[in-house]
Amino acid sequence: MDMKTIKDVNFKDKKVLVRCDFNVPVKEGVITDDTRIRESLPTIEKLLADGASVILMSHLGRPAGTGFEAEYSLAPVAQRLSELLGRKVLFSNDVFTEVTVSMARDLKLGEVLLLENLRFIKGETKGDEGFASYLASLGNVYVNDAFGTAHRAHSSTAIIAKFFPNDKYFGFLMAHEITNLEKLLHSAEHPYTAVIGGSKVSSKIDVLKNLADKVDALLVGGGMAFTFVKALGGKVGNSLVEEDKIELAKEILEVYKQKGVKFVLPKDSLCSNRFDNEAERKVFPTDEIPDGWMGMDIGPEAVAEFESVLASSKSVLWNGPLGVFEMSNFSEGTLQIGRCLGKVTENGGYTAVGGGDSVAAVNRLGLAKGISYVSTGGGAMLEYLEGKVLPGVAAILE
Ligand code: AMP
Repeated sequence: MDMKTIKDVNFKDKKVLVRCDFNVPVKEGVITDDTRIRESLPTIEKLLADGASVILMSHLGRPAGTGFEAEYSLAPVAQRLSELLGRKVLFSNDVFTEVTVSMARDLKLGEVLLLENLRFIKGETKGDEGFASYLASLGNVYVNDAFGTAHRAHSSTAIIAKFFPNDKYFGFLMAHEITNLEKLLHSAEHPYTAVIGGSKVSSKIDVLKNLADKVDALLVGGGMAFTFVKALGGKVGNSLVEEDKIELAKEILEVYKQKGVKFVLPKDSLCSNRFDNEAERKVFPTDEIPDGWMGMDIGPEAVAEFESVLASSKSVLWNGPLGVFEMSNFSEGTLQIGRCLGKVTENGGYTAVGGGDSVAAVNRLGLAKGISYVSTGGGAMLEYLEGKVLPGVAAILE
């Protein structure tokens, strides 16, 4: 893939519009995790070092799209960004008025301007071309560095690119995500294992299907495992099951069988009699869970089996927790898998982690540095792994 990144281009004297993902958690005006802001710094710093001026655009949360809402303001981001960059960040209190237009017009080289939350304007999420054209009029180069929203065809993430046929690029963060996802889809070294967890089969069907052509083994945990176990005739008690997906689970199992790819379900499960951290706990074979009990985490035999498959893998992709990871008594399986990935990397293998909960698990273990690639996108990563071309990526490549 021709990457069209900012790396080899000099942006001196340009006014560069950068779509970032500043969708950070904010509680009462205070940012509780600034990871996403930090991750956008290399791109912003490169543009400034070249001698450009920079106009930053982002969304935060899901406002109604009917104008300003204090709880979704990007003002705290402007302040934090200014601290991290060690320079002033101008902030326009709105998106679509004369004030913004004149701030953008008067912006001097070396200056940084952040626009207010784009989703205060209804056109943004509708992919409105008029709004995209307005945004485009503020600068003369477009850079997309917002991988977290690359699966959306919004005005600022995709539509805007058509106004810059020869001046559109991926930022460093986007380029890093794409390079790694391409590797996971097309050139990962074998043996290659995917570990997929999370609550529901329904949200990961297309990923599971697409991976059948790529991996040597698939390890399935979390709530979604029980729909497969039931499809195979097992008894799962009160565990989470998507009854209407049982036929589909059978189809997926058949696809893996046809291709000769190992499909590993947890042999045993740590179960509880209530959905509660303090509930009574017992281990049962996953296909013999009595009524009144539900699987909350993978059991010790499952952990051992997953570990042995992972230990002989050269590449590992992990998405989704293997149990109800938010509850301390049911987080061990997920944490153990995180540790295994750390070991695979240590032994020279390639490891990739995506999805909010798995990334949180890796961070909780202080392991993020021991993973080859930690994705910043949940939905976007899944869609990429489904084999879809993301609108935000296509818009730059077209
Ligand atoms: P997802 O958003 O699909 O990746 O799923 C993440 C959620 O799955 C987390 O909130 C977990 O608590 C939940 N989960 C994982 N394992 C189980 C399980 N055995 N039963 C119910 N929920 C689960």
